[in-house]
Amino acid sequence: MSKVLEVKDLQVSFKTYSGEVHAVRGVSFDLDEGETIAIVGESGCGKSVTSQTLMRLLPSPPSVIKGGEVLFDGKDLTKVSEKEMEKIRGAQIAMIFQDPMTSLNPTLKVGDQITEGLMKHHKMSKSDAKKKAVEMLKKVGIPSPEKRINQYPHQFSGGMRQRAMIAIALACAPKVLIADEPTTALDVTIQAQIIDLMKELQKDIKTSIILITHDLGVVADIAKRVVVMYAGKVVESGTLEEIFYQPKHPYTWGLLASMPRLDQTSDQELLPIPGSPPDLFKPPKGCPFAARCKHAMKICLEEMPEATKVSSTHQVACWLEHDMAPKVEPPAAAVG
Ligand code: SF4
Ligand code: MG
Repeated sequence: MSKVLEVKDLQVSFKTYSGEVHAVRGVSFDLDEGETIAIVGESGCGKSVTSQTLMRLLPSPPSVIKGGEVLFDGKDLTKVSEKEMEKIRGAQIAMIFQDPMTSLNPTLKVGDQITEGLMKHHKMSKSDAKKKAVEMLKKVGIPSPEKRINQYPHQFSGGMRQRAMIAIALACAPKVLIADEPTTALDVTIQAQIIDLMKELQKDIKTSIILITHDLGVVADIAKRVVVMYAGKVVESGTLEEIFYQPKHPYTWGLLASMPRLDQTSDQELLPIPGSPPDLFKPPKGCPFAARCKHAMKICLEEMPEATKVSSTHQVACWLEHDMAPKVEPPAAAVG
């Protein structure tokens, strides 16, 4: 399968009055055509900063891309001009957010928000774009689309706004869709509908999806590969099966143990991970998870563990993978 996107050693900082926040510290992953990957981690781990950097949405200053590459369609998106980025953003890489109100324009009719992109990027006539807008709203399951295209976002319910946002994002058939916590604000039934909808549209439009989430339950439903981030770094990545059934990183164990499972009996407790992530003004020189890790050794505090290959698809950055390290099994709550 061919790769649509390659992120290599991406580093992003924010310059503030109190110093520099090292938000993304060497993140690498790639995305195949038509594939869905999930980037998971707690808030502040750098997952949203990573995705917004792919779209070049972060204002600079205060954000600075300190290093690395984002390869898309033969170009390094960290280096292309803003003018070139405007042709890519929305047309070839689109994004949906947790709160549709941040990406829907409250002063524009929903239909116009769909036709705008089509007329700009696909040079469609107004009437063709309008037909396409109706078709897109129908596709995302919005009833009476002919009427709905003339309404404003506030006339839509929360779930419908989310659907409208997906319709706008996918109207131009982007190669990559970035979905940042797309279902977090929705109730569970609508969450499931939105995930199903994304899966269906993906088959149809063949878009590759990057799903950003803190919720491993959503991941299991849709992603084939998982990238686990912590304190601006990728600590583990692998196929869905590898991450769910053979997790290697103590942070991944913690995430899994804190997630409700279908096969869980009600007396099994969910275990949150005690402690908090390190200060990214001054990231630790060793493993970023050391302060919260039950298995931390002396070396963990002194040296950053490199990513080690566990299989051709599975990588983990933890000193426990070292030959000399003690053997530690994941807790039962993590692998159920
Ligand atoms: Fe824990 Fe050390 Fe592994 Fe970090 S490198 S997760 S501190 S065992
Ligand atoms: Mg976020």
